[in-house]
Amino acid sequence: MGQEEKEVSLVERTLVLIKPDGMEKRLTGTVLSAFEKGDLKLVGIKMVRARKKRLSEHYPDSMAPVLGEKTKASYLNKGKDFPHDTTQFGIGVLKKLRKFIGSAPVVAMVLEGDNAVAKVRAIIGGTEPITAGEGTIRQTHSDDSYEKADKEKRPVKNIVHASGNVEEAEKEIKIWFKDKELLGH
Ligand code: ADP
Repeated sequence: MGQEEKEVSLVERTLVLIKPDGMEKRLTGTVLSAFEKGDLKLVGIKMVRARKKRLSEHYPDSMAPVLGEKTKASYLNKGKDFPHDTTQFGIGVLKKLRKFIGSAPVVAMVLEGDNAVAKVRAIIGGTEPITAGEGTIRQTHSDDSYEKADKEKRPVKNIVHASGNVEEAEKEIKIWFKDKELLGH
């Protein structure tokens, strides 16, 4: 582009998974419809029964401290104790999460649009359904909480996964899709 100013492009792609609980509740169409209403464009979609390798690339051990810290913050916010080492706790969550996501087929999709990453996150809502924003997918279709999930030693059932930021989206799209499976239009 030489001396010319580079054009600023806000067009992004992001990865979404309909998790096994979302599949069980038959919510694929509902979730996709919410994205399409938000003017996001579908550029890739397939069903996948994920195996170990893909699952530990998607949910790597390096996520453990953040998972533990987020959970701790939620407990403290509700005035509850959290007597655990956050990283160890996060490792435990990751093990359960990988097992759960690999337990049944999921629908994987890539959505494209202006600010797609943040837009999709806004449509699905926060991680914990009981505290997620009113009218979001997670709040509307689940009433799960960190406490319930932790007591029952299982992952929080929140219907859907979506990449957290642009860097994560680029990495995650490569984990689930080959270039030729993404059809820009
Ligand atoms: P998000 O999916 O909103 O990006 P995180 O990256 O923090 O959220 O967590 C990944 C997934 O791990 C969550 O969607 C949820 O299913 C599960 N999870 C997170 N923390 C816990 C926890 N304390 N107990 C059980 N499951 C959890």
